[in-house]
Amino acid sequence: MPVRTTESSPKASFAALLTASFFVCALALGAADNQPRGSHCEPAPETAVHVKTVHDGGVTRFFVENDEYCEVTMTFEMGLVNMKGSTTFPYTATFAPRQTSEAFEVSPVQPDSKWEYSYTNYFKLGSNCARHDDSFVYQLPYAPGNKFKVTQGYNGKFSHTGSNQYAIDWDMPEGTLVHAARGGVVVRVKDDSDKGGPTMEFDHYNNYILIRHEDGTLAHYCHLQKNGCLVKVGQVVAMGDVIAHSGNTGFSSGPHLHFCVFRTQDGRARVSIPVKFRTNQEKAITLTSGHSYRASETQSASVRPSSKPT
Ligand SMILES: [Zn+2]
Repeated sequence: MPVRTTESSPKASFAALLTASFFVCALALGAADNQPRGSHCEPAPETAVHVKTVHDGGVTRFFVENDEYCEVTMTFEMGLVNMKGSTTFPYTATFAPRQTSEAFEVSPVQPDSKWEYSYTNYFKLGSNCARHDDSFVYQLPYAPGNKFKVTQGYNGKFSHTGSNQYAIDWDMPEGTLVHAARGGVVVRVKDDSDKGGPTMEFDHYNNYILIRHEDGTLAHYCHLQKNGCLVKVGQVVAMGDVIAHSGNTGFSSGPHLHFCVFRTQDGRARVSIPVKFRTNQEKAITLTSGHSYRASETQSASVRPSSKPT
């Protein structure tokens, strides 16, 4: 859940305030509370992003420390008493990976009177400036020559709604090698779970990999086998690289691979993106439920030296 943080200015203890609030940390989790039911495969709670406030004279400056391997988009909601901001609120902005960036500042309107601010922040992985390269054709995320059936496509009634509208499910035996459908940087890896089931209560048991593409969009590979991830956070993978073993973890009604490309809308929401795939017969098609697709024998596939996540 998002954390609401309050600071105020009792005049007598300004020195104490300065010390106590030099590092104020407000963690925002995945903010999945506004996601429609059935949209399984939300990334798990995120913890490598922190908000810092620094009191500089009468001004409070807000910084976002982002240790993730991709941008984060954060939304701030502010409650201000006798204070003004350097921007308008709610404020949504994207913060670059692996660095600390200044977001905005607030300062008293009348410095001699009591002032107070509180804020709630939410964030999601990814940039709200990302624009998907629609000319990019994805590879099927399995080995050359292999063939699997799509059991749920775009707008699938079971769970491909809301933020998973343009996801694809392939019926796939557990332990099948999953290949990157597109290259990028590995942002998140989770493979510590061995539980799965057909209801949302199992969602947090989902094992998954998130990969950031060059255009700022993210790909989500879900329901992976326990200890089945073969890449680590920060690793660069190429299209066709083996990244994991498929499984049946999380909100999953049977062994399958769930794949979805998305961009981030704001600190609370993400938007999935329809993509096209190359198969052994087609150069670029939209996959549909009930059909099986064989991966081209000539599609790239490589097993890079990999190590387990630490
Ligand atoms: Zn799915």
